[in-house]
Amino acid sequence: MRLIDPHTHSSESDGTQRPAELMAAAAAAGLDVLGLTDHDTWRGWDEAARATATTGVSLLRGVELSTAADGISVHLLSYLHDPDDAVLLAEATASRDSRLDRARRMVANIGQDLDLSWEDVAAQLSDGATVGRPHIADALVARGHVADRSAAFTDILNPRGSYYVRYYAPDTVDAVRMVRAAGGVPVIAHPRAAARGWVVSDGVIEEMAAAGLAGLEVDHRDHSEQAEAELRVLAQRLGLFVTGASDYHGAGKPNVLAENTTAPEVLEQILEEGHLDLVTP
Ligand code: AMP
Ligand code: ZN
Ligand code: FE
Ligand code: FE
Repeated sequence: MRLIDPHTHSSESDGTQRPAELMAAAAAAGLDVLGLTDHDTWRGWDEAARATATTGVSLLRGVELSTAADGISVHLLSYLHDPDDAVLLAEATASRDSRLDRARRMVANIGQDLDLSWEDVAAQLSDGATVGRPHIADALVARGHVADRSAAFTDILNPRGSYYVRYYAPDTVDAVRMVRAAGGVPVIAHPRAAARGWVVSDGVIEEMAAAGLAGLEVDHRDHSEQAEAELRVLAQRLGLFVTGASDYHGAGKPNVLAENTTAPEVLEQILEEGHLDLVTP
């Protein structure tokens, strides 16, 4: 009955729409509940919450945290945590600060070969937004070096390429504990999105489950059918719920709202375990 898309991005990170515009797009897509999960920030929550009244869409407040397990980047969704939790806020801020330094260094690297400056990237960025490679991609597109974001990622921004720079992220298993301590509900985002680089092992997911992980994001466009089938078995074995989501980024990616969704029973469980409530119209 209720259509729920719990993982999307606004211009507070690397999405292209303001939080309020995103809520309006969610209404147009027929969604009942939208999860706003910007990278390493929840600055967009208030604007999105105000838009519940005008759009009729309920808001699931979340974040997509940068974490790392043995050098492998793991995106950890946290739902309904206390926004004032000092530890979680400090870790997210550390990642955001490091991302800015990292983006400047990547632009300097790229600038040795291509005409690209930090001003080009700044022009793609909302004030105070979490910086990511998509902003560098947009600057490369604006400069005419590549056709679109995807083309920038296959080559220039690739982690195996010579321009790539890493950024600070807390340990993945520690991050699961921090999310729980902040009253959040931790869910691994796209755990088998192999095209993005190295993927976390079942062993790390087992450690995360022991540390309080609640769920696995299974239905995601970057997963193969086989990966999804394996993840469902793993979730069952570890007692984790499964989610599905679009990971919508506005005009920046082909993902469309509601292309994958999450069962209402799973949302109920998130609401039971989380510190905050759903924001309803
Ligand atoms: P970063 O967080 O700066 O390392 O950049 C990762 C972000 O880039 C993620 O949020 C992805 O949504 C986005 N991304 C990864 N691969 C691609 C791709 N092939 N095309 C467009 N965006 C991508
Ligand atoms: Zn993103
Ligand atoms: Fe992600
Ligand atoms: Fe995402």
